[in-house]
Amino acid sequence: MRILVVEDEAALRESLKHDLTAAGHAVDAAADGEEGLYAGLEYPIDVAIIDLGLPKMSGLELIRRLRSAGKSFGVLVLTARDRWQDKVEGLSAGADDYVAKPFHFPEVQARLAALLRRASGWTTPLLQCGPVVLDTRAQTVTVHGVAVELTSFEYRLLEHLMLHAGEVISKTELTEKLYEQDFERDSNVIEVLIARLRRKLDPDDKIKPIETLRGRGYRITLARTASGE
Ligand code: CA
Repeated sequence: MRILVVEDEAALRESLKHDLTAAGHAVDAAADGEEGLYAGLEYPIDVAIIDLGLPKMSGLELIRRLRSAGKSFGVLVLTARDRWQDKVEGLSAGADDYVAKPFHFPEVQARLAALLRRASGWTTPLLQCGPVVLDTRAQTVTVHGVAVELTSFEYRLLEHLMLHAGEVISKTELTEKLYEQDFERDSNVIEVLIARLRRKLDPDDKIKPIETLRGRGYRITLARTASGE
């Protein structure tokens, strides 16, 4: 997924960017509220992590501006642990969840995954389409109960397709979700990743989980199943 990080503390911003990138996400980092607003309005962001204390424009103002511009992506605010008011103000400005500083990265990751799932209409951490089950907490994939080893990019690609199961997702959208804006990527990269994903999920070509719609993109063909959780 594509994540916007708005944090003025350089060390924290860089470490979030590093950890999120290592987890396979595309990250747009902004150091103040104005930069954050620009990125939030211009790029196809899935989730934003916004510090409340920002130069040029406060985090609260930034969230209000994004919401009033019709941006509905999930917003996770970073608050100071001793400022409970921040949490209340952040949520009333339009944030969806918060993490208090200092935090451990897995906490941020879990909250982001929950925001993304809710936005896509899934209510459990297990995304199940036919025999394919993707566990967004453990970041594992099984087919007919058998674990499938995926690279982080293959995982992100499948996660995005499964979150939007039934919808046609264009190559451009997939490229934008997986890579930052400054990476000029050939759309062949996506074709190669999709081909690899198909081979791994369906080596015998039986379930055909991902269909290609010529000139339009890709779609998960398997119906969403309510998981047993
Ligand atoms: Ca700050």
